[in-house]
Formats: sequence, C-alpha cells, structure tokens
Amino acid sequence: LPPEIQALQTSLASQGVKYALASFADIHGMCKAKSVPLAHLGQMMAGSELFTGAALDGVPQEVSDDEVAAHPDPDSATILPWNPTVAWFASDLYLGDKPFAACSRGILKQVLAEAAAMGFTLNLGIETEFFILKEAADGKVTAVSDRDILAKPAYDVQTLLDNYEWVTEIVEAMNQLGWDVYSFDHEDGNGQFETDFGYCDALKMADRLVFFRLMAKEIARKHGFFATFMPKPFANMTGSGAHFNMSLADIQTGENLFYDPSDIRGCKLSTLGYQFIAGVLKHAPAICATIAPTVNSYKRLIARGSMSGFTWAPVYVCYGNNNRTNMLRIPMAGGRVECRAADISCNPYLGAAMILAAGLEGIREGLDPGEPHTENMYNYSMAELAEMKISFLPRTLGEAIAAFAADPLSEKVMGSLMYKSYIDFKTQEWQEYHSHVSDWEIQRYLKFF
Ligand code: GLU
Ligand code: MG
Ligand code: MG
Repeated sequence: LPPEIQALQTSLASQGVKYALASFADIHGMCKAKSVPLAHLGQMMAGSELFTGAALDGVPQEVSDDEVAAHPDPDSATILPWNPTVAWFASDLYLGDKPFAACSRGILKQVLAEAAAMGFTLNLGIETEFFILKEAADGKVTAVSDRDILAKPAYDVQTLLDNYEWVTEIVEAMNQLGWDVYSFDHEDGNGQFETDFGYCDALKMADRLVFFRLMAKEIARKHGFFATFMPKPFANMTGSGAHFNMSLADIQTGENLFYDPSDIRGCKLSTLGYQFIAGVLKHAPAICATIAPTVNSYKRLIARGSMSGFTWAPVYVCYGNNNRTNMLRIPMAGGRVECRAADISCNPYLGAAMILAAGLEGIREGLDPGEPHTENMYNYSMAELAEMKISFLPRTLGEAIAAFAADPLSEKVMGSLMYKSYIDFKTQEWQEYHSHVSDWEIQRYLKFF
C-alpha cells in the first residue's frame, strides 16, 4: 500500500470506520457507489470498483461496453455523521487508464485546469434551500410543524424552533465535517429551510453539495420526515434555489481578484468580475440547462405567484447590485458574484463547469456587461423589457435544452460524448412531461371547448 493510503486506512479504522464508499455523482448529481470493507481500501483507492454505465441515467454506454472505474479522491474522505462506520469518498470515473468523458466531476476539473492556466482558482459558496416535510398516512404532504402555515414564513422563529431538533442535527453534522455553518433560518416557504456554510474551492464545494443532499435526506428520514431538493414543490410558495456565490482568486496568493472598493459602478467589483459577469450573461440560456436542469426548475423562475408576494427567483438575463431580482447579483459587501438562477436540484459539477467556462470566456474577450440594474426587475412590463433588449431566461426545460444544444460553449465544456447524451436524456425528460395532460388543462379546457 502507498504510505498515505496506509495512514488513511489506519486513521479511519481508529475512528471506528468499517466500510468505505467509492461514490461518484451521476448526471443528476446524485451519489452512486459501491461499498468496500475497510481492509480493501487500498484496492478501492487504486480503482477496483467498476460500474456498468448502461445501468445509469444519461451515460452514453451500451450494455456491451467496458465498465467504468471509480478513482476516489483521498482528500474527500468523509465519515458519515449519521453512521460513523462508513466513510464516503468522491470519485472520478475512468475508462481504462483515461478519464471517462461523461464524468461530471472530471468535466469540472477540466474547466478548473483551464482557469488555473490563466492564473485563477474559483471560490464557490452554494446556498442550500430545501424543504423538510412530513407525509401523512393518506399521502398528504405538509410542513412538519402544525403552525408552519404563515403566508410569510421567512425568518420565522417559532417554526424554526419547532424544527430545531433535526435542523440543528443537520447543522451539527455539517460542522462536524468542518464546513463552518455561519447561519441557518426558516426560508420563505412553509417547511423550507436554509443552512449556509463557508465557501471553499469549487471542486470541494461541489463534492460537499452532493454529500449534503444525501446527508439531509438521511437525517430527516431518521426523524420520520423527508427532505426534498425538488426546486418548486408547491406552486404557491417560493422555490428552492442553490445560489452560486463566486469569486476568482489568484492561484499563487489566494487574493480575491473580484474585489475593488474603488469600483465606479458602486458594486465593489473589479473589472475582472464584470468581465466574468458578461461572459455568464452571454451564455445564460445554455448554462440554465445545467443549473436549472429539470422540468420543475422553470416553475421556480417566475417573479410572482407565491403567497408571500415575490418569489425572489430570477426571470431575466441581467445583473445588478444587491437587489434580488437579478439573475446575477453582487451582494452589498462586493467582491463576489451570486448566480441566483441555480436551483437545488442541480448537478453542481456541471453547473460550475458551465458558469466558470462562460466567465473565463468573458475575461479572455474582455467583455463588459453594461450598467448594473439597481431597480426591481419584476416591475417592468414585457414591452419595457423588449425595448431595453433584456431577454428572458429559458421559460421551460425544452427552451433551455435547445439553447444548450445551440451554444458552442456546451460541447466545449462537456465534450462531445456528454454533450450529446445530456441533450438526448434531457430532451426525453422534456418530451415525457410535454406529452402528459395535466389537471390544469382538464380544468381549463375539458368543458370550455
Ligand atoms: N428561494 C429563493 C429562490 O428560489 C431565494 C430567496 C433568497 O434570496 O434567499 O431563489
Ligand atoms: Mg435563501
Ligand atoms: Mg442568496
């Protein structure tokens, strides 16, 4: 055994670990793994765990193709806080001795290498919004606390305290892993919460998000509830975003290159930051196919319609200062860009890869996004938006996939294999949905026509 793997095995054993999971993220950003008794850690780290691509969604492999191997990242070792006999590892997929083209983590690593060649690392903080709900014997789904019925439940203390037992269990688990939770609250939907933790480099953050979803589901389940990362479970409430807070740092010094207190536009953002924004705006529709990847994602990207009034989700391709009606927001302190279009169902590797590649293009081409929108974007009429040449974000998954297919950046980032299979898989998802006749249609048309 290589000495560092031996040391890892000894350390895990001394902490009571008996099994290791060679886990990778599938196209949905969900964990898939094989479990290995700790005595076999050495083999597992060398790539012993094989997976049949054809058994997974959206993997461009035939049943007769060679299996792909998981190569776990030793730095990602994570002891499950809810079951400390198991250690989880994020892995890269390989086909033979080459990185497998359809591995999301590998796709992000490639764009990170492109950034590194330009002298940058991407710092990323992802905000986790999600619902924890209970399901009655009759199948009725509600918030856990009976008094979690306010029309404006954001920041509500009573209902946060009603849920404290399991919310703090999630928070303590996050902190046990060293993620540094700095704030958690009741969000704007009944049964909706948010647990925010420190930013880190983008690869680690993507690993953390996929692990977080697994962990929150397991902890909620232990308490008899369930966590959902569906972006818009209830039409009359706000959806669950996964705002990506981003800055580029100097790869040598770690200095934040997006911060400029003397910014004449007043957002405390550097020219590099504005160029990054311009690149992301340019490719926004294609990016949406990865950061808002489901049929349901597009029901979140609307301005009004929630009980609390606004949804706080973006609708247009635009950027602005601290105001929350923009797709890209520069929070008050400056020095970072928040992409609000991302939702909590996203595959964070693919989403970060697309956003970063677009931002780097903006930097290479020295693009400028124009003046920031400081006004409430929700108040404009369609005619005003058209006059200002502000376009909508995709309105449906179908539109997003069409934009993704048409944008050369997509294939550049994903590679031709993943590019094609992503389009095929998501087109099928869209078509399945589109061929379904909904209750809304029956109510509206059955007796009307
Ligand atoms: N839940 C909102 C969304 O869907 C965001 C609310 C907030 O700004 O925290 O993006
Ligand atoms: Mg929030
Ligand atoms: Mg936010």
